[in-house]
Amino acid sequence: MTTTRSPRVEPVSHQIPSVVALVPAAGRGLRMGGSIPKQFLSLGGEPLIVQSLRTLQAAPVVDQIVLAVPLADVEYCQKEIVLRHRLTKVTKVVAGGVERQDSVRYALAQVHSETEIVLIHDAVRPLMTLQMIAEVVAAAKKEGAAIIALPMRDTVKQVRVDGTIERTVDRAPLWLAQTPQAFRRDWIEAAHTKAHAEGIRATDDASLVEWLGHPVSVVEGSGENIKVTRPEDIVIGEAILASRMKGRELGEKSPKDKRSQSRRPRKSS
Ligand code: C5P
Repeated sequence: MTTTRSPRVEPVSHQIPSVVALVPAAGRGLRMGGSIPKQFLSLGGEPLIVQSLRTLQAAPVVDQIVLAVPLADVEYCQKEIVLRHRLTKVTKVVAGGVERQDSVRYALAQVHSETEIVLIHDAVRPLMTLQMIAEVVAAAKKEGAAIIALPMRDTVKQVRVDGTIERTVDRAPLWLAQTPQAFRRDWIEAAHTKAHAEGIRATDDASLVEWLGHPVSVVEGSGENIKVTRPEDIVIGEAILASRMKGRELGEKSPKDKRSQSRRPRKSS
């Protein structure tokens, strides 16, 4: 395992990882309040980041994981997160950057030049499933780029600065983007390189690939794939974990597994 921020380092192994997962986990989690970055908060008795990494570790399609964490936490993460939890697919822990996009760019620089697919997943979505990983990677292999997303179910209002409603937006074509997101390596590398050169900023990676002009498919996710942003999200996360545990005891499939038997991926553009 290395901890560099240097240009691309090719692994010593002659095996080229076909699918590499990047996990941006270098945020300071300020919106949560408190002093612990949210990726290190506990869910189901383990840090969120461990939950996310365990699912990636267990995914047969993922060959390697690159983790980006705050500079001050690189050593701690190597010992207490990666080694302690035997996350053997994590081959590199890099220092993240000022913004999420910088952290992803630094992690991307560690990906082998012949890797086919790059999967990107926010550490703070610990309830992602193996099914989501398999589906989004399969869609990216077929179409070039795909993301997990959720159709908008609420009525959407456009609101004026004075707090009154300007109009009701048609929600039919609107989807909420989640992670994991998967891309052909050359597309995501080109998108990040060009965005960095031109000072373009985006809150997810698909936006940059769309901006380059490539089509991005959507694969329907699950409302359970929450992003831990506010303290109450931990309470919701615990409830989801408990219900999954109960379902497992009763031998049930998850809602996502049941759904995916009947739904097909759809294109976002
Ligand atoms: O801040 P936000 O909730 O959008 O962060 C999404 C993910 O990006 C989190 O896992 C967070 O740790 C990560 N991130 C990062 N580097 C930053 C900011 C956020 O890796 N500078």
